[in-house]
Formats: sequence, C-alpha cells, structure tokens
Amino acid sequence: MLTTKILAATNNPDKLIEICRILEPLGVSVISPAEAGVSIEVDETGTTFAENAQLKARAFFEASGLPSLADDSGLCVDALDGRPGLDTAFYQGENASYETRISALVGELNDVPDERRTARFICHLCLVMDGENVLDCEGVCEGMIGHAPKGDGGFGYDPIFYVDGKSMAERPKAEKDYLSHRGRALREFAALLCTLAP
Ligand code: IMP
Repeated sequence: MLTTKILAATNNPDKLIEICRILEPLGVSVISPAEAGVSIEVDETGTTFAENAQLKARAFFEASGLPSLADDSGLCVDALDGRPGLDTAFYQGENASYETRISALVGELNDVPDERRTARFICHLCLVMDGENVLDCEGVCEGMIGHAPKGDGGFGYDPIFYVDGKSMAERPKAEKDYLSHRGRALREFAALLCTLAP
C-alpha cells in the first residue's frame, strides 16, 4: 500500500467530495489541490477518457511532486451514438448551467422510447505515482436517461440519470457511491493500491 498522501488531481469540487468520501474510509489519504498549493488548469486534449485522465494526473504530479489521481468521466447515451461522452463537461458550452444541459439532453431524446434511452456513466482513474509508474482503472454505471429531472442530491447530470427506476439525485450518498461509475472505479483503485509493495 502506498503510504504517502494522494493528491486529487481535480478542480471539480463535487468530484473532490466524492473521491474523499469514498477513498478515506478505505484507508487512502487524499489531499486537495488547495491543500497542496497547486492551482493549474489542464487542457483535455486526449481522445479517450484514459488519455485525458493521464494528462490531468501527470500535470498535477509535475506541479506538486505528489502521487496524483485524476478522474475523467462522462455520460454516453446510446440513442445519441455515445454523446456527449468525452465532451460531457462541455455539452451546451463550457459555462452552461446543469439546468440548461439537462433540459437540452432531455429535449434531444424527446421522441425516444424508454427501451432506447439506455446510457452509461464512465469514470477512468489514473494515478501518476512518480515519473514512471502509472495505475489505471475504470468504472461503469449502466442506467437510462429519464424524461424529467428528479431529486436534489448528487451533482451534474444525476437528476436525469436513472438506475433501477430511481435517479442518482434521489439516492442517499452511500447508495450513489455503491452504484456509481466513480464508486466502482475508486474501490477497484483502492484494492489495486493494496497490492503494491509498501
Ligand atoms: P470531466 O471528467 O472533467 O471531463 O467532466 C465530466 C463531466 O461529467 C462533468 O460535466 C460532470 O459534471 C459530469 N459528471 C461526472 N461524474 C458525474 C456524476 O457522478 N454525476 C453527474 N455528472 C457527472
């Protein structure tokens, strides 16, 4: 198990909360960019979630010298040929509100029947441990896009992402973490860390 603290290589406060909430009970200490005194923006120029996660993790590692864990995630909707996918954070424009994004996405699926509203959230995690060693893992959460937002928990697209008839925003935090792409990826990540030499 890696004993040093891991820097969460993200500027997204909602991701940071979930990463800490899931990893800390598994014995992994997480520090935020603010605590590490790191303030950088990374261009997501990769062509896959894995490439973008590695770009972010490497940039935060180079800025801090700390093992850095990045999360690149997105929502892939089957009826939209996988969109917004890699561009989930930029759907309807970088500065669009989630209200706008959610109503645009529901609007795009206006005529799509329930059985074709399938979608998945993907989370790719990359830990850059040092100049050479990198650890990767991925979590997927299958669900569907609802007809209307429901619930006020979670963040982002959670109010319209339904799993087993309930939106992610309607679920208690522990339930979201148990089901979510990020929860699945982080638990696999923590298990992988345990297999590393001390
Ligand atoms: P990126 O990983 O920075 O490229 O951005 C991921 C995009 O997916 C952002 O728009 C997030 O708000 C959204 N997203 C990622 N994870 C979740 C989640 O757990 N719930 C809802 N939206 C999410």
